[in-house]
This record gives sequence, C-alpha cells and structure tokens, in this order.
Amino acid sequence: MQQALMQTYGRLPVRFERGEGAWLWDDRGNRYLDALSGIAVCGLGHAHPAVTRALREQAGRLLHTSNLYRIPLQESLAAALCKHSGMQRCFFCNSGAEANEAAIKLARLRASRLGIRRPRILVMEDAFHGRTMATLSATGNSKAQKGFEPLLEGFVRIPFADLDAVDAAAAGHTDIVAVLVEPVQGEGGVRVPPAGYLRGLRERCDRNDWLLMADEVQTGMARSGRWFAFQHEDIVPDVLALAKGLGNGVPIGACLARGDAAELMQPGSHGSTFGGNPLAASAALAVVETISRERLDERAAELGQRMITGFHRELDGLSHVRDIRGLGLMIGIELDRPCAELVRQALADGLLINVTAERVVRLLPPLILDDSEADDIVRRVARLIRDFPATDS
Ligand SMILES: *Cc1c(COP(=O)(O)O)cnc(C)c1O
Repeated sequence: MQQALMQTYGRLPVRFERGEGAWLWDDRGNRYLDALSGIAVCGLGHAHPAVTRALREQAGRLLHTSNLYRIPLQESLAAALCKHSGMQRCFFCNSGAEANEAAIKLARLRASRLGIRRPRILVMEDAFHGRTMATLSATGNSKAQKGFEPLLEGFVRIPFADLDAVDAAAAGHTDIVAVLVEPVQGEGGVRVPPAGYLRGLRERCDRNDWLLMADEVQTGMARSGRWFAFQHEDIVPDVLALAKGLGNGVPIGACLARGDAAELMQPGSHGSTFGGNPLAASAALAVVETISRERLDERAAELGQRMITGFHRELDGLSHVRDIRGLGLMIGIELDRPCAELVRQALADGLLINVTAERVVRLLPPLILDDSEADDIVRRVARLIRDFPATDS
C-alpha cells in the first residue's frame, strides 16, 4: 500500500513491529540488531522504560495546550538543557530543520538590530541542515537543492574544517553575521574536523562579532561522547540546534541561545503550535534524566573507543578501506568505492546500518549497547566490509 505515499524515500522492504533496546523485530518475527537508531534518534534504544513510563503517564493526563499558556514540563526541560549545555534560553520546535530555521532567524534578527541590511551566514560544503527552504539553502548538497530554486540568499559557502577559508570569507565580505556548522558532519560522511577547529571558529566569531551556531541535531544528546560535541573543544557556541536524540523518537527540536542572542525573540517574533508540548516535553525530559543518571555521555565515549579499536583490529591493512573515524557513537568507515549495497547485505544478515556520502558506512548505534552487542556490531560490519570486494559488481 505504498501507492498512497509521496515517493520521497527509497525504502528497504522490511516492516518493523516491535523494538527493545538495540533490537527490532519485523512482521515475520525476524530479529535485527540496530546500529542506526532511526538515524541517531533512539539513543536510549527502543521502548526504553523511562520514556515509555513518561509518555504513558502524560498521554493519560494532557497532550497539548498550545504555547498560549505556561507549560511546566517545557520550562523544566529548558532549564535542564541549559544546565547541561551552558546556554541560557530555549525555543522548542518539532524537528532539526526547524531548530536550524530558528537559528537562521536569530542571526537575521540580530543583524537587523545591528542595522545590517543584507546579512550573510557562513555555511560549509557538504553540510546538512534540513529540508525546509532556508535549511536546504544552507545545506551543501546540490543534488538535494536541485529543482527547488530559487534558494534563499544570504549564505556564503566555504570548505569544512578550513579556518583559512573563514579568514578569506571575513576579508571578502563585510556583512557576515554568523557561522552555522556541524561539529562533526553526519550526512556529509561522518567527517570529524581536526582538533582546534571549533576553537578556531569561536575565536573568529568573537573577533568579528559573529554568532557561532552549532548544528548538533545529530551530534547532540550524548552521541559524541559528551553531552554536546562542542564540549570536546572547551568552547560554548552562541546558538545550539538540537533534535534527533532529544525525544528518543517523539518529534521535538530545540534552538538554544546565550548572551544577546538569547534576548532577541519577543512575543510574536517566532513560534510553533506544537513546539514543546506537554507530551513531547515529557519524553525529552525522561531522555535528559536518563542520560544524566546513567552517564550515557561517558558510556558513548567508551563504546565509541571500543568499536573504533575493534574496527582497526578487524580492518586495518585492507586496501579498499580508506579510513576509520568517528567521535563517540558516530562512526564512519570510508571505502574506496560506492558501497550502498552493503545496507541490503546487512539487512539480510539482520543488521541495520547506513551508507552516506556514497562510500561511507555510517553507524549510529544506541548509547545503551552492552559490550557484547557493540562487539557483535563490529564483527558483523567488519565481515560485510571484508567480503564486499568479492560481491561488488
Ligand atoms: C538530521 C539533521 C537535520 C535535519 O533534521 P530533521 O529533523 O530531519 O529536520 C539537521 N541537521 C543535522 C546535522 C542533521 O543530522
């Protein structure tokens, strides 16, 4: 019955019915080990009891009131996110694109207060920020943009992980007001910038009075091995976009800000009907409390190390393996050829993985893996990669 759906996705022929922890079951009773977590969403795994309990209780009490009224759960969630991130205020929406959309609007609003009429935001090649018109325009993927022109103006694109390019852009334009950047590029191929990159961006933003806006939609909520990936560099951005792992599958996004960026929005400036409603806020609050209680940030760092070490042991020396890299539980294995076919092979083997940027095997497993599940993923992915050249047509 796929005919009634717009054909926006190339879907794999499997239908899941149930999940528990790092495991999913399809409608024929087959079991799969999930090394993707619904694309970095279900960080606590499937059917986590704390999230289930929060949702059950809240669903029976109150789903939605609108933001015409105070929402205590939303206020608590904002306070908890500010505490863990060092930010000061929080705006809630329903997706990553909307979180970035709010960030872009903040940068423009600040520019207008400063009297800058045609503000520009620095964005990176191969970045992914979402599919709304503004975030698609900020995204560095011409295939995703094709057919949707005219794109929004006001973005200047430079190479990722290149501070000289930032300086060149600063010299070439007087109207830059912000930098929007993923601390690790996810869709772009799990690209981890060299140490010091974010710190270098922070310095340049300070020097030029630009906002540093971190898109942590994928890296945030402990996936990188810290609560937020910027914490690896001991800096704090001015604006922070979150979504994916925030609700463990309940749609919720957030745009956080500090300093003058936190004071820009006034009643009527921006809004979202569903944003931070009681149901979504209850799920996200359960996620925050669970990460905190179970120290899942530290656990993600430990598991990430364990898996990267395992992959080196299993794959080092193979000529078709170009690179093994990652941060926490964002892991990429780059091959020397397109390898989308591995996704189907893994599925047939009862394992969920992803391939991005054509030749990068991407793993985003849940943070609640036990050691043997982590080792199982390494063994199975390594076997698929080892055998790949033989099955490659
Ligand atoms: C997934 C993603 C987005 C878009 O999130 P949606 O919820 O799909 O709108 C934005 N930025 C990054 C870094 C992402 O990984």
